[in-house]
Amino acid sequence: MDYDVIIIGAGPGGIYAAYELTKENNGLKVAVFEAGKRLEERICPIDGVNVKSCINCPSCSIMSGFGGAGAFSDGKYNITNDFGGTLHEYIGKDEAIRLMKYVDEINMSHGGEGTKLYSTANSSFKKLCRQNNLILLDASVRHLGTDINYVVLSNLYDELKDKVDFCFRTPVEHIKVIDGGYSVITAEGRFTCKKCIVSVGRSGSKWIEEVCHELGIPTESNRVDIGVRVELPAELFSHITDELYESKIVYKTEKFEDRVRTFCMNPRGSVVNENTNGIVTVNGHSYEDPEKQTNMTNFALLVSKHFSVPFKDSNGYGESIARLSNMLGGGVIVQRFGDLIRGRRTNYKRLADSFVVPTLKAEPGDLSLVLPKRILDGIIEMIYALDKIAPGTANDDTLLYGVEVKFYNMEVSVNERLETKYDGLYMIGDGSGVTHSLSHASASGVFVARDILRQL
Ligand SMILES: Cc1cc2nc3c(=O)[nH]c(=O)nc-3n(C[C@H](O)[C@H](O)[C@H](O)COP(=O)(O)OP(=O)(O)OC[C@H]3O[C@@H](n4cnc5c(N)ncnc54)[C@H](O)[C@@H]3O)c2cc1C
Repeated sequence: MDYDVIIIGAGPGGIYAAYELTKENNGLKVAVFEAGKRLEERICPIDGVNVKSCINCPSCSIMSGFGGAGAFSDGKYNITNDFGGTLHEYIGKDEAIRLMKYVDEINMSHGGEGTKLYSTANSSFKKLCRQNNLILLDASVRHLGTDINYVVLSNLYDELKDKVDFCFRTPVEHIKVIDGGYSVITAEGRFTCKKCIVSVGRSGSKWIEEVCHELGIPTESNRVDIGVRVELPAELFSHITDELYESKIVYKTEKFEDRVRTFCMNPRGSVVNENTNGIVTVNGHSYEDPEKQTNMTNFALLVSKHFSVPFKDSNGYGESIARLSNMLGGGVIVQRFGDLIRGRRTNYKRLADSFVVPTLKAEPGDLSLVLPKRILDGIIEMIYALDKIAPGTANDDTLLYGVEVKFYNMEVSVNERLETKYDGLYMIGDGSGVTHSLSHASASGVFVARDILRQL
């Protein structure tokens, strides 16, 4: 065999698997194949001057390359089983938390020391939420920030590059089962290994479906989350974000009893474009360095949809809605809350007259022409509910960017060791549908690495 272990994908799942496999310098031969670029080569061309919106690069520097989708993220590592994936359903709750804490230790020893760990434990804010029909989920969150997250990734790469063969700009095309292991086929040639870890994230969602189809590995449709990103002056949420940084708050709508939740809160952050397989949606991040912070806070409000019979392509549904917004706005649409509830589009004049300045250059428009009524009604209800705990949320000038879609990969059938029906073929991270976050994806990488170490 060319390698003991081949890892496909250099996102958090792949990186922490490589770290764990090689940290004892045990001589294991490990290779990582990554479709995207090296960390320092990952530059999104949108500069706000010459390139104002997404130009659909062949390999999206935001989603692909060393560090994966998380490289320019806010670097929020949520240590919890309450959200971020269902890893605990496979490996147990205690083990999942232990591994997330272990990942946190690695981050702290690779440049993250000094960053703050926030916690919902003993927060008086929980009661305030309950009193207003909102539920605050339990979590500890380490906020690295986009800047420190980058430092941690650089340090990890420096440590790994002499122990692991990294092949960048090398998308894997096929995986074949061979005697005693696997053959991994790329445009550069085929490489064999005893064990194979597939960690291709959301950008690899279509490819992993093909691989599962080719190898007869069962998959199940997963949910899709659809909604908007809310942006408002940071002081409106500062009493919450100063204490908790990120709060995951859930609301059950009165009208349809749907659940709407906050997601990915970025105090003093920026709203950004995200490109998944050519569809432009919205996301957000913030820096740890006060110099780079803005005076706005953003977070998503999302509603989950899961289709099963007869239509089961939940992601396809989300994609169609995102395409509609791309068709109407040429990318992401921004609307003032006041315009939305008055049933009129936001135009450049209304935006310029408002008291807030958007951090993302998006096309002013009308989100009610894009989002299904049921989802939009839920979002509006939740904005009024949040207004009770953070007065000002329902101000006319609050900005809503759409659409935000969280695509979840098909859930791949894996056992309690995250192994497919083939011995030594593991599918982990967001690509497997098991995780949806940095901490869970990273923990899944450490988990399978340890499983492999026990065997090799
Ligand atoms: C803008 C943004 C902000 C985010 N912020 C946060 C946050 O603050 N906290 C949080 O918990 N989560 C956040 N997330 C989500 C988080 O980044 C993901 O959950 C996490 O990166 C998943 O890790 P992964 O290793 O499973 O996959 P990924 O990070 O997606 O990495 C997969 C890698 O596999 C590569 N790949 C795909 N197909 C192939 C192939 N065929 N061959 C070779 N390589 C391939 C891709 O290029 C990619 O680099 C954010 C995501 C984005 C986009």
